[in-house]
Amino acid sequence: MIEDEEDLLLQTPERLYERFRLDVRVNEEVVAVDGHAHQVSVRSTIDGSETIIPYDKLVLSPGAVSIRPPIPGFERVRGLRTVEDAERLARDVTGAPTTAVVIGGGFIGLETAENLSRNGIAVTVVEAAEQLLTPLDPELSILVAAELIAHGVAVETGVAVSEVTASGVVLADGRTLPAELVIGSIGVRPDVRLAEMAGLALGPNGGIAVDEANRTSDHDIYAVGDAVEKSDWVGGGTSLIALANVANRQGRRVADHICGLPVHWAPSFGTAIVKVFGLTAALTGWNEKRLRGVGRRYRVVRSHPLSHADYYPGAQPMSIKLLFDPDDGTILGAQAVGGEGVDKRIDILATAMAGGIHAESLADLELAYAPPFSSAKDPVNMLGYMAENIRSGECDVVEPDEIDDLVASGWSVLDVRSPPEYARGSIPGSVNAPLDTLREDLPQLGSGPFVIYCEVGQRGHTATTLLHELGIEARNLDGGYRTWVAADAARRGEASRLVETI
Ligand SMILES: Cc1cc2nc3c(=O)[nH]c(=O)nc-3n(C[C@H](O)[C@H](O)[C@H](O)COP(=O)(O)OP(=O)(O)OC[C@H]3O[C@@H](n4cnc5c(N)ncnc54)[C@H](O)[C@@H]3O)c2cc1C
Repeated sequence: MIEDEEDLLLQTPERLYERFRLDVRVNEEVVAVDGHAHQVSVRSTIDGSETIIPYDKLVLSPGAVSIRPPIPGFERVRGLRTVEDAERLARDVTGAPTTAVVIGGGFIGLETAENLSRNGIAVTVVEAAEQLLTPLDPELSILVAAELIAHGVAVETGVAVSEVTASGVVLADGRTLPAELVIGSIGVRPDVRLAEMAGLALGPNGGIAVDEANRTSDHDIYAVGDAVEKSDWVGGGTSLIALANVANRQGRRVADHICGLPVHWAPSFGTAIVKVFGLTAALTGWNEKRLRGVGRRYRVVRSHPLSHADYYPGAQPMSIKLLFDPDDGTILGAQAVGGEGVDKRIDILATAMAGGIHAESLADLELAYAPPFSSAKDPVNMLGYMAENIRSGECDVVEPDEIDDLVASGWSVLDVRSPPEYARGSIPGSVNAPLDTLREDLPQLGSGPFVIYCEVGQRGHTATTLLHELGIEARNLDGGYRTWVAADAARRGEASRLVETI
């Protein structure tokens, strides 16, 4: 996408010297750290000569190293870690290969798949987990898989690569995919070689352990970026978050501390975003899987709003999910997938989390509105109203995976959309009872209790409230039929079913 390779280089040693008088050395590698003597040994990667540099304070920012698993033939797999890797890859794909496999369906793997595909290469993404983009929950991640498939990228999830041959990639289920080019993008681990050499303490996840000022166990040595463990805002404790925003903030914090300025504790949320063809996927905080994994209580609200008022041209759909603590309303995480406006909503939610704004208070956020940009009730405000409904007990919701149990215990499922919508597809076993004639139809529908659903949840909410007023037990399906379809496709691993609907 970037025409001029030079644009990728944000700084040069010369410019940093001219402006800041910084002594920046490239092609030199720190090969030893002596914390007692306060010095580092530096070796030239050009002629092998070694020099010693003394320090008062040392900052380690060595980043991460790509994970390279012990798979036969993996030496043929190319990484994408440095600007040079990207330049080489861009040069090599021009005209030559026609097939490629990207191993790993994370952020970088998907960006790579998109760009290889834009070069006319037949690409398959192979991901060992059951879904792409594991920081997302399955019903949102499946939308990204569908977008890839819609653009001709093949997606293989739930299957690992067992061997890389000269002409292809062998999967654990025995199939072989042709691949002139194989890109490995299966994650990184902190580069702690220098830290180990200096005898610094590591954290529980294998990164360098640091305090709130990013000091290591040797207080004259600081560490920042991908190499260190970050305080985790949601769970307490620490986690590994390899993101540029976090690394930059830590850099500022360390500089302040070395210069004697006060620093404050700044935990991380893991706010991240990726573009995959026409879709944007973004998230902040923890997802449902992770909250469930530690036994943390949470509630969910989902919505499928438009990026701006639907009567103004160009509005694009998105799916948003908010996770919050049912007891005090603390926001625990949010995810969104869709077109324009996904970035704005996740950034608002990340800001709300950092500011300690609780889920129901999102309804009170006064956000900029005019029809080309939003709706008078922004999607973020709507999440607040929905959370408030749950927290106040006003109108509870049902999650897609709870329907079967409710039906088994005697609940009926009512689809309150119009007959044409119902005819296009519905939840098996549901009965069509359009919202506008629900009062009249009720005598034929039985006495409940009812699971109610509509397309995205809004008419379902009205129907549920109406039934409550008539003394009938009912719960609305969170996120409506659109969420149910995505959750069902994710459960069955059938992303291609969604290609028509995204
Ligand atoms: C392809 C790609 C795309 C990415 N896209 C995004 C994105 O869109 N958004 C986002 O938030 N993050 C993104 N990231 C992650 C982001 O780049 C990192 O989080 C960030 O660069 C971390 O900064 P750092 O200083 O810790 O490490 P790095 O930027 O990796 O810098 C570490 C440097 O230290 C050097 N080094 C290591 N050991 C030594 C040694 N002994 N002596 C001398 N030098 C040494 C390394 O060669 C390297 O140049 C991306 C990463 C990759 C690889």
